[in-house]
Amino acid sequence: MSADPVAITRDLLRCPSVTPAEGGALAYLHDVLVKAGFAVHRMTFAEPGTAPIENLYARIGTERPNLVFAGHTDVVPPGDAKAWRHPPFAGEIDGGLLYGRGAVDMKGGIACFVAAALDHLAANGGAPKRGSLSLLITGDEESVAVNGTIKLLHWAAERGEKFDHCILGEPSNQEAFGDTIKAGRRGSLNGTIIVHGRQGHVAYPDRFDNPIRGLTTLIAALQAPLDQGSAQFDPSNLEFTNVDVGNPTVNLVPGEARARFIIRFIDHHSQASLKALIEHRARDAARGRIRYAFDWQPSNADVFVTKPGPFTDLAAAAIAEVTGIKPKLSTTGGTSDARFIKDYCPVLEFGLLGQTMHAVDERVPVAELVALTAVYRRIIEKYFG
Ligand SMILES: [Zn+2]
Repeated sequence: MSADPVAITRDLLRCPSVTPAEGGALAYLHDVLVKAGFAVHRMTFAEPGTAPIENLYARIGTERPNLVFAGHTDVVPPGDAKAWRHPPFAGEIDGGLLYGRGAVDMKGGIACFVAAALDHLAANGGAPKRGSLSLLITGDEESVAVNGTIKLLHWAAERGEKFDHCILGEPSNQEAFGDTIKAGRRGSLNGTIIVHGRQGHVAYPDRFDNPIRGLTTLIAALQAPLDQGSAQFDPSNLEFTNVDVGNPTVNLVPGEARARFIIRFIDHHSQASLKALIEHRARDAARGRIRYAFDWQPSNADVFVTKPGPFTDLAAAAIAEVTGIKPKLSTTGGTSDARFIKDYCPVLEFGLLGQTMHAVDERVPVAELVALTAVYRRIIEKYFG
């Protein structure tokens, strides 16, 4: 008898694991995985100023290659539970749809890779056909993500765990199940440019130095294109999101003006090279006549891309066999724990259809859970085949 991803999803949905609460979700997985023969490790990570968070690492097999499935059991709050058609932590099925907070993002994804792993083990006498199968599960993805995957990977590396390839089960599809594999993400870098002038009465131009003139010059210069895009990415973008002189007075020229910007950048740049490029452009535009400074915010969101190759082909083939759709490789959207995993092994994101994630009445078609389990099962078979 094959494992039932719908039953596992329902069990997980009934665990109210709003970050930072464990809610019983990891305890449940612990139980299921131990029964299947996995060595399961639970660890709590903490840091001053943040809530301690529970995490789980499970592995079956000791050999390489080690194929890892990654995910998070924590969910965003349901909001007003009365606005839901079915209670957000009840796991009710209605009209072929399973309702609950986390159904899509991403308890459904976890249930599908657990079911696929159990089926693979059952078909091979209780062990992977070769190599190892592992699960990296965190309870800290939806919030600040400091006591989750980043520390879990570090913990695993310290005990000598090696990962060869990873599938992160986040909801990756856009319009139809099977249409998108996420194979990288843009980097993100935020900064502020501050222009210094001299305050004065607006009627006496010889007595003030208006920083707004300098700021508009620099804003214009910094909005020039950063690149033409690359094989995997659309062009980088620098967008100003705020301009502020803090001046409520009509006849006063302010002493300082500042503008805040966000850059979403692609694989032509690193954070350092991008800062150098921006500062060079500002220097050219200022021509020694504008006094200014940059204030860069620290960022842990570097650009990365998982290049097309055998692993990507294998995943795409598994998806096409189940869905009849050839998935596209995408690098759009916000950030995810893939930004941490990519430092340890190539990582692809493939999961459910993302349309109701974080929404009221988050729900997944039961048939889609069955299909995703079939995709994961094929990925495992091809990987160890
Ligand atoms: Zn998620």
